[in-house]
Amino acid sequence: MVRDLICTYRASSIYSLKPSLFSKLGFKYLFIDLDNTLVQYDVMIPPKKVFLYLEELRKEGIEVIIVSNNVYKRVSAFCSRLDVNYIYRTNKPSPKKVIRYLKSHSIDVNKCLYIGDQLINDMILARKAKMRSLLTEPISKKDHISTRFIRMIDYRLRSYYLKKGRLGISLEEQED
Ligand SMILES: [Mg+2]
Repeated sequence: MVRDLICTYRASSIYSLKPSLFSKLGFKYLFIDLDNTLVQYDVMIPPKKVFLYLEELRKEGIEVIIVSNNVYKRVSAFCSRLDVNYIYRTNKPSPKKVIRYLKSHSIDVNKCLYIGDQLINDMILARKAKMRSLLTEPISKKDHISTRFIRMIDYRLRSYYLKKGRLGISLEEQED
């Protein structure tokens, strides 16, 4: 029996994927987790790599929305420098704020991809919001103290589901 997929796609990092791949796959909106998906959790000022990557996404006609459980101060300071919309204190895995955002901006969920480094928080939210998802490896082994315990469970679940073939398609293999 084929069991449900936990996520649609997987990749080692968002930066390992060409921005054009997302438009080829039909995505117009990327909802991206901040801490350990875009940057390490204690990086407060977006590095050049992030600016360049988001610029490439914009050129592809893709809009980025940052989705974080972190507080207003951290998320707004980071995102305003990048000039992207954001959702802070999301309370993942609750999909409420993301669903509210989709409704208020009249966004078709079928054109959205949710990208995050945590199976438990991010992929569950995407599933609840009925959004396709991409699971990445965390950018860094360093985690905020509040994430350390859940990360241990996350790693175990990740290897279990990978063995069972339930972690979706590797997008790195899709690149030319
Ligand atoms: Mg994260």
